[in-house]
Amino acid sequence: MSTDLRDLYQEIILDHSRKPHNSGHLDEATCEAQGNNPLCGDRISVYVKLDGDRIQDAMFEARGCAISVASASMMTDMIKGMTVDDAKAAHARFLELITDDDPPQLADDDQLAALIGVRDFPTRIKCATLPWQTFSAALDGGADEVTTE
Ligand code: ZN
Repeated sequence: MSTDLRDLYQEIILDHSRKPHNSGHLDEATCEAQGNNPLCGDRISVYVKLDGDRIQDAMFEARGCAISVASASMMTDMIKGMTVDDAKAAHARFLELITDDDPPQLADDDQLAALIGVRDFPTRIKCATLPWQTFSAALDGGADEVTTE
């Protein structure tokens, strides 16, 4: 990856972590779950409002590092309006992207591309995946807290 691209991604992550999109409590949530990454101290609640099979709205509340907050911000932007199946596919694609030895190629303007840099920092991968894991637990009706450990 070029240095310019790396700087750009750094910039996107910082921007999302400073001014997270969709941050707050979603009163009309139809499902929610809590996630915990003890390795870093990240805690997150993810709220989803489903209308049939479609994700009408998604919000989160997080106390955590820049990576976890930025990932939650990008995730909620992305999944709003998706069907549950599409959102699950996006989760799988994201995991592949940051953990697979041979990750799929992404367009530079793909929102998730900004997080590909965490591949270089194995301990940060859990920060990036926590919001997605928690979101997935919410869809599955998760009563228990999700933990990365
Ligand atoms: Zn973290």
